[in-house]
Amino acid sequence: MESEQNKPTLHFIQAIVEEDLRRSKNEKRIHTRFPPEPNGYLHIGHAKSICLNFGLAQQYNGMCNLRFDDTNPAKEDVEYVDSIKQDVRWLDFDWEGREYYASDYFEQLYGFAIEIIKQGKAYVCDLSAEQISTDRGTPTRPGNLSPYRERNVEENLDLFKRMRDGEFTEGARVLRAKIDMASPNMHMRDPIMYRILYAHHHRTGDKWCIYPTYDFAHGQSDFIEGITHSICTLEFEVHRPLYDWFLDQIIEPESYRPQQIEFARLNLSYTIMSKRKLLELVKNSHVAGWDDPRMPTISGLRRRGYTPESIRYFAEKIGVAKRDNMIDVALLEHSIREDLNKHSLRRMAVINPVKLVIDNYPEGQVEMLEAVNNPENIGAGTRKIPFSKELYIEREDFIENPPSKFFRLSPGNEVRLKYAYIIRCESIMKNPETGEITEIHCTYDPETRSGLPNSNRKVKGTIHWLSVAHALPVEVRLFDRLFNVENPDSQEEGQDYKTHLSPDSLKVVMGFTENSVIGAKAFDKFQFERLGYFCVDPESCNKKLIFNRTVTLKDAWAKIEKRQ
Ligand code: ATP
Ligand code: MG
Repeated sequence: MESEQNKPTLHFIQAIVEEDLRRSKNEKRIHTRFPPEPNGYLHIGHAKSICLNFGLAQQYNGMCNLRFDDTNPAKEDVEYVDSIKQDVRWLDFDWEGREYYASDYFEQLYGFAIEIIKQGKAYVCDLSAEQISTDRGTPTRPGNLSPYRERNVEENLDLFKRMRDGEFTEGARVLRAKIDMASPNMHMRDPIMYRILYAHHHRTGDKWCIYPTYDFAHGQSDFIEGITHSICTLEFEVHRPLYDWFLDQIIEPESYRPQQIEFARLNLSYTIMSKRKLLELVKNSHVAGWDDPRMPTISGLRRRGYTPESIRYFAEKIGVAKRDNMIDVALLEHSIREDLNKHSLRRMAVINPVKLVIDNYPEGQVEMLEAVNNPENIGAGTRKIPFSKELYIEREDFIENPPSKFFRLSPGNEVRLKYAYIIRCESIMKNPETGEITEIHCTYDPETRSGLPNSNRKVKGTIHWLSVAHALPVEVRLFDRLFNVENPDSQEEGQDYKTHLSPDSLKVVMGFTENSVIGAKAFDKFQFERLGYFCVDPESCNKKLIFNRTVTLKDAWAKIEKRQ
């Protein structure tokens, strides 16, 4: 048994759940749900909610439903439903067949509305949307009563039925709850329950021309499904009295009801998280699609090279808070590095090559040198990589006139070629017109290969390389942050978030890798020595491998943690 001290500290929602279990609330049932609106692809913020809802169900032997809150046919689509299911599965959570839709409850919700009308607590209002909005008043000034507020029950029932039957034009009438036009909570000022919308619904087709508002559907959907803990983000705290009010009208006071618990949504630096804005980026081709590797969507992160484990680890690490905060995107990057460091195979690649010739190495000779596949996992074994007279090295690993503390290659200086020999730079050749270095000429010390007498001879720098004759040309996509400011959403200077789009967020280059990556499949992951973690893009084909750089090796978060 775990001792009290070793017990991991609970976050506040776990504490609520444990207290409910202790008191045998809801016969000890724990039932959560993840309720996306299928109007876009899921993002890393949703991942937090998924991990929380499905995680609680797993931890406390409960259940978690997948429920699509599809009350707005104008913006919803099956494409989104499918992508959401794929993403939840990919994160390795299982709704065990409980795939539900708010639209499945339209008839039941309609019945609830009739019930509330019969109690004299809802009315059909003929005011325009604009009028209703201006009549709502302000938090400090009561709203105006609608002239239709005192319609009698029979007339309301008749009009509401005729709304359903399609007798009125879109926007002509709405059904409103009759609550309190002076309430300090604006959501209680006779909120709209139903509107007329002649839109084709992705599930109910043309069956309905009135649709419940999100507010009228959400709490009752939770109730219908027997949800015990209805977890949502903080902005819904002010909606809670309204959800309660709706339930008060249709269920007995002592009957079971879902408990709403609010937590702080995930905000990430250098990232936007609103689906409306992400959709705008896609529609206006600022990115190549929802799964563009620069997008914070789950599909984008997947294509970027993130693993489900890394995202779940991240969700765990950020915890669950009650107050809004901003998480450093470096923590997300740290999470994938931790995972890939343990699991990815190391390979050599050169993405900005310059040719290096070893003058004293025998012409035509090829040696197969042993290289470690993953120093973090000896079980991953070794491979042989070809070494020859002509190599590629990274252009940045050579400087003609180096600053002090530059330990890589420079004229007269020695470095080790990883898994191979120590070389010394003897001379360079340049393009006479551009001044660009075209070849670096070196000599090697044949005694310094692994296993030979001078193999332990120390030099300050080690660089990676590829044999020119054996290198495989590949396309490499280097990503940077999509936005160049920490909070692209802040409207401080009245600027639109799009003004903060970084012009350098994608750089496509031709590079080279070891030919041992031939046959790699979409989403296979590698560490290219010294360059970062890379993932095979699904656009790759037999003729051309494309690698997405997931992250570089430099872990900004590890530094931040050290400082704290
Ligand atoms: P948007 O405001 O961008 O439209 P949304 O919150 O309306 O997003 P939904 O599809 O309604 O998107 O979200 C489904 C669930 O995911 C909700 O329970 C919501 O609380 C949760 N969620 C959405 N964004 C975040 C976030 N950034 N952090 C944590 N949970 C989130
Ligand atoms: Mg929402």
